[in-house]
Amino acid sequence: MRRLVIFAALAAASAPCRATEPSVAACLPPQAGILAALVPGTAPLVLIDRGQNPHSFDPSPRQLAALSKCDLYVAAGLPFEKALLPRLRTLNPAMQIVPAPADEHAHDADEADEHDPHFWTHPDGILAEARAIATPLAEAAPSVNTALAAYEASVRDLDAELRVRLAPYKGRAFLVYHPAWSHFAEEYGLRQLAIEHHGGAPSAKHLAGLTDAVRTEGIRLVIAQSDSEAARARPFADSLGLDIRLVNPLGRNPLQVLRDTANAIEASLSHTPPTP
Ligand SMILES: [Zn+2]
Repeated sequence: MRRLVIFAALAAASAPCRATEPSVAACLPPQAGILAALVPGTAPLVLIDRGQNPHSFDPSPRQLAALSKCDLYVAAGLPFEKALLPRLRTLNPAMQIVPAPADEHAHDADEADEHDPHFWTHPDGILAEARAIATPLAEAAPSVNTALAAYEASVRDLDAELRVRLAPYKGRAFLVYHPAWSHFAEEYGLRQLAIEHHGGAPSAKHLAGLTDAVRTEGIRLVIAQSDSEAARARPFADSLGLDIRLVNPLGRNPLQVLRDTANAIEASLSHTPPTP
């Protein structure tokens, strides 16, 4: 019954997690976008909503206070959540927490470096997240299942479209600043090259290797996720005459992010075949 009340408040476009209004919260904007697709009219509280770096983020006391009043939190598996989730369980034992998708490599220290935590940058990741979020909501409101089915159909349609559009570039490489698109690359048979190296500024040796790759792969642009990242990519891009295209993987509509990524890859690769 309590969940039914929660859902009624959600459907009435409640403000983000005020003391008197039961509501929902998400760690990242793409998760909030999925929430809003499943429960039209809802306005989730989003923890990382101002371009902060998710890899080094910590919520403010104010955010924590607002979050602790929410009825549901969608976690993203980020480092700060290791401390946050137990705290939320203490502050609000009734809160439902949707865990981040399982990290297949979490138990394998050697592969930790290889694992890409940006699970929503491919269709299967978006579908899994939508289903995980829908499950607790649908217990109280079966209409969520209808919204989920429609959302799943739109993900599958986009996936089919991108598969056709990206097929000509199978095996080829695209260049990004921050490596957030490993899942996308794997899904569509592409290779991701990144300027950022082990989470930091690139060494001269790394850039020299990339310079060779840009030339032999026929790469024409760099994908950067923000203006500040574009500024960091600029010297390298200018030295090779590369364009910079902004695609923010933390955008609120993960389907639009997939489409923008495909557009950028097409723009990078459609003019120039790789040298044999
Ligand atoms: Zn990232």
